[in-house]
Amino acid sequence: MNFSSPLSTLRGTLVVWLTIVLVTALALYSGVAYVSLRQVLRHELDERLHNDIETLEGLLRPFWTPAGVRASHSQPVLDEDDYRWMQVWSPDGRLLFSSSVAAANPVPALVGAPSDKAVSIDVENNVRVRVKEESGRIAGHPVIVRVLASEDRIAQELWEFFWLIGLAAPLVAGVAVLGGYHLVRRTLRPVDRLVAAANQISAERLNVRLPVANPDDEVGQIAQALNATLAKLEDSFERMRRFTANASHELRTPLTALRSTGQAALTASRGDEPSREAIADMIEDAEQLSRLLDVMLLLAQADAGAIPVDRRSVDIDALIADVVRECEVLAQEKSQHLRLDCSAGIAAADPTVLRIAVANLLHNAIRYGPPSSPVDVRAFGDVACVTIEVRDSGPGIAPEHHAHLFERFYRVDPGRSRALGGTGLGLAMTRWSVEAHGGVVDVVSSEGSGSTFRIVLPRSPVVRNPERSDS
Ligand code: ADP
Repeated sequence: MNFSSPLSTLRGTLVVWLTIVLVTALALYSGVAYVSLRQVLRHELDERLHNDIETLEGLLRPFWTPAGVRASHSQPVLDEDDYRWMQVWSPDGRLLFSSSVAAANPVPALVGAPSDKAVSIDVENNVRVRVKEESGRIAGHPVIVRVLASEDRIAQELWEFFWLIGLAAPLVAGVAVLGGYHLVRRTLRPVDRLVAAANQISAERLNVRLPVANPDDEVGQIAQALNATLAKLEDSFERMRRFTANASHELRTPLTALRSTGQAALTASRGDEPSREAIADMIEDAEQLSRLLDVMLLLAQADAGAIPVDRRSVDIDALIADVVRECEVLAQEKSQHLRLDCSAGIAAADPTVLRIAVANLLHNAIRYGPPSSPVDVRAFGDVACVTIEVRDSGPGIAPEHHAHLFERFYRVDPGRSRALGGTGLGLAMTRWSVEAHGGVVDVVSSEGSGSTFRIVLPRSPVVRNPERSDS
């Protein structure tokens, strides 16, 4: 199976980049939100610690002695919970008061010089606590009040936030990617329409124009630019075709005159062998040129759609037998034997146009087949199609030439083709004729093993636009 990378298409590239950007943005946002939340929670805790210090000072004041809190009031009513531990120290480092929770938990010594800032420290059992120490006075005595609070609640809230993000992020990313894919598809739909329309354009259909849905957007501008190029192409094709048609037409008359003059000179030059041969060569060249011009004119007319293809019920076997009969003389000159095996029956065809295709294949088989060799012509079919095969035992054609054989003026061996009277346009004519019937023509051949040219035609008329790539 052939897997293509998603980056091989514009759509795939856009979706991949959109996904990368969205996921990165989501990760960044989550990171920033996590850090901010931690800061807010710590700030709130620090505020509470500060308030606690002020409350504690007020609560302890009535019971305070220089040695600390009076024994009977060692536990003033404090709004104490498991998370908050309170202590009062003398500036020289003696513990003067400890709340019940702080007394029950091992608390590290003073963190350092009291400051406005709270700090986080680790106490036993991997518990992280926030510590705030402030210098103050209780009943006029200088003290250091210290409040500690476990960061468990902060950790719990951060953990919950982490899970929430962890669960929501793939969901959000999935929705964003699907949305992005849908958006990209919608955005590129006009491009798909443009490609579909462009694929309909061929050398024969240069009059087709691409749809311009919105002339102001990028796709519309591309379509307009391509349409302008198509108009120029159509114009130059038309001028080229007219030039070929006019040139062929104009050259025919002097060529006919040349041939007539040659014939007259040949008749007059009785006995003078060298000049007779020269004149005969000249007449032969003129005839070949004349054939070439006829074919060029026909192809130019075919390009312009000026040759009507009138399909009607035709006895294919009889048509082939007729063409073979006409070629007998040529085959006999090379002592070749034309063998016929036809059972195709009736099909919808224009006999004049189809005759051109069969005659060209047969001429080639005779031209390139060796003397005294057989040439087989077969025709058979089924309900849907008719197949015509012309097979020779000539030099064969190497596979690398197959794709080009039906192009105009393509010759495998130009010298040989010219020497044998070929125009280089026979197979191009064949292809035009077959495609005008909605059929296909191909070749099966390899060097040294002869060639089989095969025409396949639909038995009944098919509405189809023949397309060609050699023009
Ligand atoms: P040409 O008039 O030169 O034969 P065609 O268009 O009929 O031109 O054929 C194109 C080329 O294909 C020829 O020049 C020849 O090289 C090759 N070719 C065509 N038919 C045969 C064949 N039956 N055997 C070998 N080569 C062939």
